[in-house]
Amino acid sequence: MDAATIPEPISPVKEFLSKTQKLLIDGKRVEAASGETFEVLDPSNNSVLTRVPKGAKEDINRAVKAARNAFENGPWKKISVSERGKLIWKLADLIEARAEEFSQLETLDNGKPLTIARAVDVALVIDHFRYYAGMTTKIHGETIDISVPYAPGADFLDFTLREPMGVVGQIIPWNFPLLMATWKLGVALAAGNCVVLKPAEQTPLSALHLADLFQEAGFPDGVVNIVTGFGDAGATLAEHNDVDKIAFTGSTEIGHEIVKASAGNLKRVSLELGGKSPSIVFPDADLDIAAQGVASAIFFNQGQVCTAGSRLLIHKDVYDEVMERVSEEAKNIKVGPGMCADTNMGPLVSREQQERVLNYIRSGEMAGARTLTGGQVPENLESGCYVEPTVFDNVKQDMKIVAEEIFGPVVVAAPFEDLDAVIARGNDTEYGLAASVWTKDINKAHKVAKGLKAGTVWVNSHNIFDAAAPFGGYKRSGFGREMGIHALENYTQVKNVIIQLHD
Ligand code: NAP
Ligand code: MG
Repeated sequence: MDAATIPEPISPVKEFLSKTQKLLIDGKRVEAASGETFEVLDPSNNSVLTRVPKGAKEDINRAVKAARNAFENGPWKKISVSERGKLIWKLADLIEARAEEFSQLETLDNGKPLTIARAVDVALVIDHFRYYAGMTTKIHGETIDISVPYAPGADFLDFTLREPMGVVGQIIPWNFPLLMATWKLGVALAAGNCVVLKPAEQTPLSALHLADLFQEAGFPDGVVNIVTGFGDAGATLAEHNDVDKIAFTGSTEIGHEIVKASAGNLKRVSLELGGKSPSIVFPDADLDIAAQGVASAIFFNQGQVCTAGSRLLIHKDVYDEVMERVSEEAKNIKVGPGMCADTNMGPLVSREQQERVLNYIRSGEMAGARTLTGGQVPENLESGCYVEPTVFDNVKQDMKIVAEEIFGPVVVAAPFEDLDAVIARGNDTEYGLAASVWTKDINKAHKVAKGLKAGTVWVNSHNIFDAAAPFGGYKRSGFGREMGIHALENYTQVKNVIIQLHD
């Protein structure tokens, strides 16, 4: 791709990229204690966008201390819930005013098409903060009638208080950098916690841009702290004895590490992990909608979506027809730099991820799967981290491409014969994050939705997210729910107060 044909970022983005990047600790923008920095790359051509601080143990310790102080001693506790809501709403307004900056930064850093960064990532971010701005005034306890059999005739008032956890550590991945930060921050702040956020090393930029806005919105110092760095920074946060709760989104492998690290002080844990979600197509589905829908279920965001519809299960009667259409959809996807207006699919996030995905593709080919389309690095795009949209069939359950999460634009397809068999097949995975069912038959839709062990089931759609709709995993896809009122469970604890009323 000729560099001259790629649109330039707007000037505030260029200014952001040219300035010295800093952590946010205790309301101040600071360098890493070590003074070290690391490169941030644009995966469309692997050029260096900027450098960011390499936060590590000392920085995490300082950030946790700042969050603790803000939680125990700062003005945060005394701010009314209504004022707290206004701060979060103000944050949403500030992001909205800079929506184009955030969208372009996300595209440059992660690779995703700018059209998607605008319409999905940043739009959801703004909406999400507004949803939780409205929730601050709706968090409440309950009153309970108690009988106490060993105190006959006594009179009690029992009520609960729903209180914040305290200091919360949040570790996020690189696939939707700003949105993942938002899913974590919105509810944590709404519930009155103080936060230390560790963005992924591959995509730290939108979180660092967001860091400026907490001050501007009027959040007290130390309520939100942002430390960029590598896995060791995340590990320090996960094992820190003064962190009350750790929230993690990322791979199942690191999820195990988080659980182990949390054991020291038995901090609360919530995990959003990997997936291998089935898209199930019945013969009575509207096949135009279904073929397009299941293709987008896997190829959206370059397949780097924890809910990607990476296992396609198609009824045998329409298997050939749907496979032909899905392959056609894949071939028509325009792959290129995210900044170009006509790009449908950008590069993967990094060379490492590209290699990982290509290795899966090679393993599928060697195991005897048939490549219907894709499987290569697209021609003339070798300088970036691109992989063609890839469709496999002739697959067996024990192939790595069927069992493991690829986290790239690769789908494996297989035919099925009946409803019970497809539910069993859908559940034949260690994951349980999501699934979609494509049918016009309401009975089949409900039966499959009920039969699948997954945290989200979409019917005649896939990858639909809303701040009000709870999201999370069954099985090894994690535990705890983000979004909606359900997310409050992760960020509050219940205190029971019993008062004996004497005459
Ligand atoms: P990852 O390697 O697990 O990393 C996730 C985050 O954890 C990063 O910030 C990473 O830091 C940090 N980290 C690495 N080692 C750590 C350790 N020992 N202790 C604490 N933190 C540590 O995952 P990824 O490659 O970034 O993202 C892809 C994975 O995330 C996929 O498996 C995908 O399914 C999953 N994901 C799940 C959801 C969901 O909601 N369920 C959403 C998105 C992604 P560095 O990267 O800076 O080293
Ligand atoms: Mg990057």
